Amino acid sequence: MQQIKNYINGQLIEPASKAYLDNYNPATGKVYSLIPDSDEKDVELAYAAAKNAFKEWSITPKEKRSQYLLKIAALIEKNLDKLSLAESIDNGKPLKLAKSIDIPRAAANFHFYGTGILHYAAHAHSMEETAINYTLRQPVGVAGCISPWNLPLYLFTWKIAPALAAGCTVVAKPSEVTPMTAFLLSELCIEAGLPAGVLNIVHGLGPKVGNAIVSHKDIPLISFTGGTATGKHIASIAAPMFKKLSLELGGKNPNIIFADCNYEKMLSTTLLSSFSNQGQICLCGSRIFVERKIYEKFKTDFIAKTKTLNVGDPLNENTKVGAIVSKTHHEKILSYIDLAKTEGGKILCGGKALKLNGEHADGYYIEPTIIEGLDYKCRTNQEEIFGPVVTITPFDTEEEALKMANSTIYGLASIVWTENLTLAHRIANNIHAGIVWINCWLLRDLRTPFGGVKASGVGREGGFEALDFFTEPKNVCIKL
Ligand code: NAD
Repeated sequence: MQQIKNYINGQLIEPASKAYLDNYNPATGKVYSLIPDSDEKDVELAYAAAKNAFKEWSITPKEKRSQYLLKIAALIEKNLDKLSLAESIDNGKPLKLAKSIDIPRAAANFHFYGTGILHYAAHAHSMEETAINYTLRQPVGVAGCISPWNLPLYLFTWKIAPALAAGCTVVAKPSEVTPMTAFLLSELCIEAGLPAGVLNIVHGLGPKVGNAIVSHKDIPLISFTGGTATGKHIASIAAPMFKKLSLELGGKNPNIIFADCNYEKMLSTTLLSSFSNQGQICLCGSRIFVERKIYEKFKTDFIAKTKTLNVGDPLNENTKVGAIVSKTHHEKILSYIDLAKTEGGKILCGGKALKLNGEHADGYYIEPTIIEGLDYKCRTNQEEIFGPVVTITPFDTEEEALKMANSTIYGLASIVWTENLTLAHRIANNIHAGIVWINCWLLRDLRTPFGGVKASGVGREGGFEALDFFTEPKNVCIKL
């Protein structure tokens, strides 16, 4: 059985404990590889390597750093098929999705920051004839990067690429639920000739490896993407140590549909924003608010479309909805469907685990589920489910739609469908979210600020914001 290795100081090595965790294929429910069960000893080794590498890497000309990043991007592209297959097996997502979104985006992350760093500039502030101030932007040091399982390589590289571009060295931990493509990335970094210790990848459990990174006294900044409860825990450790923190957390995103929208475009995109990646994208619109005038028509058409979605083997070309990432998460989603029923929700379609045949009989599948009849304040409508489950709710006025949309503790993304430009601007202005998509979903320009408000996070990734995060501004004032 394949054994994943840690990537420390340029080498693929065993964990100090020599112990391994099982890695499951969610499509079959079977163990198919082993993950290092690392601990603080491995984090310490990785930190020492990163600290040592920082001396050179932080003063390596940005043109040279750029070349390494572009080389890694090219290697990811070259290995598209291999990485996509690995991602699909590890995560349960349709192979088609991994090949069209996840892996190309991982390459794009390295490409974007490999070129972005060449255009990154700092400010100068002139005090007329008295003095001139200029700002140095210096890499902060060894960065701790921790990522989740839903878009494994996509989100892992979204942190690592800007950190490396900015001149930081990195100790990174991918999710223990989906470690495979991070492991394959370490092989590609070796192939690219990335200097030893610049990137270190330590595999293992959050409370062990993640916690050791977060509480390490000499790691001055943490970039974390994951659940809100974990983010809260991380902040409680890191804030008293005055670490720089970037927290990209959970969401419960509203999808607000007005009657004047481009109906067909809205319907096909809403299908995607509801069920892509089995609804396990932090940006999915899981609360759908529909103007009452078109509510019944929407309901009929949306149910009909949802019923056409093929749930099944992620490796099958025709599969639209693959497997849920793990047994635990499968159970969590089903428990929310039960909760919805007790809260008075009516299951319009789906609502059950799906049992496949043959080698997939023990896989973790759930039918895409639409629920109606729930109060906007109930737990189903307030808590993040993170699965193929959406609720639909009618509204009469713009104020009512906004009140319901803004009612959760979260504020990550939002979606608005209307052809009325003034209304769209007004909603964008008043909605509690870091991202507003009008008449589209998941359309991404990597230069834009990415992140959420309220319990969805602190700070922004993307564009120069990420380079700002991984560098420390230092003002130098010269008296003339
Ligand atoms: P999670 O919080 O359970 O785990 C995320 C990472 O943190 C994993 O690598 C995990 O091992 C690690 N971790 C767990 N406990 C830790 C601890 N005590 N100290 C340090 N690290 C620890 O989240 P998940 O279940 O992997 O991912 C799903 C969540 O991520 C959802 O809530 C989703 O909304 C969120 N998410 C947010 C974004 C965003 O950009 N805002 C993107 C994707 C996913």
